[in-house]
Amino acid sequence: MLWSLLKILLFVVLVAALTYGANLLMENGPGLRVAVGDVEFVLGPLQAVIVALLLVAAVWLVLKVAGLLVAVLRFINGDETAISRYFSRSRERRGFQALADGMIALASGEARLAMANATKAERYLRRPELTNILAAQAAEMLGDNKKATETYKKMVTIDQTRFVGVCGLMKQKLAEGDTDTAMKLAEKAFAIKPRHGETQDTLLKLQAQAEDWKGARETLNAKLRHGNLPRDVHKRRDAVLALCEARDCAVDGKMAKSHELALEANRLSPDLVPAAVMAARAYVEQGKPNLASRLIKRAWEAQPHPDLAAAYAEIVPDETPQDRLTRFAELTALRADDRETRMLLAELNIAAEDFVEARKSLGDLPETGATVRVLTLMAAIERGQGADDSVVRGYLASALSAPGEPQWICENCGTIHDSWQAVCKNCGAFDAITWKTAPAAPLALPGGSGMLPLLVGGTGAAQNE
Ligand SMILES: [Zn+2]
Repeated sequence: MLWSLLKILLFVVLVAALTYGANLLMENGPGLRVAVGDVEFVLGPLQAVIVALLLVAAVWLVLKVAGLLVAVLRFINGDETAISRYFSRSRERRGFQALADGMIALASGEARLAMANATKAERYLRRPELTNILAAQAAEMLGDNKKATETYKKMVTIDQTRFVGVCGLMKQKLAEGDTDTAMKLAEKAFAIKPRHGETQDTLLKLQAQAEDWKGARETLNAKLRHGNLPRDVHKRRDAVLALCEARDCAVDGKMAKSHELALEANRLSPDLVPAAVMAARAYVEQGKPNLASRLIKRAWEAQPHPDLAAAYAEIVPDETPQDRLTRFAELTALRADDRETRMLLAELNIAAEDFVEARKSLGDLPETGATVRVLTLMAAIERGQGADDSVVRGYLASALSAPGEPQWICENCGTIHDSWQAVCKNCGAFDAITWKTAPAAPLALPGGSGMLPLLVGGTGAAQNE
């Protein structure tokens, strides 16, 4: 505050002094009289200013020469490095100036100028840990990959810039699509700086894409240890990775390990549907059907899902439809109003040939949430109740243009997967596949519902009879 006030005061005083000086110059008639020995000069106002400037330049030069003289005197007195120090100071000044110019050029997008300044700065400074960074960035901006690679490789050999060099090379390999080398570099970068968030993310993504689930879990744990990840996100992702590891173990025939990992995945994230399904199957194989039922019910409470119903059915594979309906009552009592629960009940009742109960289970779904599945169930119910063919056909016809059911869809790119995956097959995003309804796309059948009579026995044929 006081300092700003002083600065303002100083400014006012300076302006006043300049104005006064200029007035003096103007009013002084013939100008300034300067006597050197016997000779007297008379200077006009402008000439006076020029002489003043020349004087300042002369003083600067004298100071420089004096500095050099002092250095020479010191050298003569036995200080051997005095002269080289004098010159290196000036080299240093020029070097840092070039470095600064280079950075400004880089910021304003003048890559060529930045590169020239980087070379100049390196010549004066001989400080590659500073100048290489500028040179590498300038080369990247110029699109000169070869030069950038060379510079990054030089950076890797210097302790202070090793990490930046490795990251630079890694990004280049990623851009080239060489993910194997990129992953090795990411591991190296991670070893140098395990706390670096971006490196953790890149390594994790590459490990997931390479299906190195074990390595990915280690990276994820490091992320949690260094505080870069909320605990619940860590738990969910750890569950996903454990599930993937369990799947791989099952493929390799390591069933005990696979069971252990599936149960761990389910414990970490009870609402992760594929983990619940796999864990339930593990319990069934271990001869523990009650634990399997309990686990499915808990997952159903979180999110009713057809895969869970299928896994629940597998617990007792060879029961009668009536027995199944009775056993499922415990499951369908949970989230009874959910549309998935209602459709499941309808299906179970249709299988048990109780069409009245099946229709009751659907409730108002045909009016409020008609989808392909709801309308197909309605057709089956009508058929079972002995309704006229035209009614059944009516439901099937509207099913053709009805919205679809939820599917496994990548949140990142919208690709539909026929089963849950940890990594999107299209964009490689990790844990991005969720159970949701695809945005409505009009179904374009050639001929539309006009095709239907051919499929289910047409009205035309009926009229002809
Ligand atoms: Zn995707």
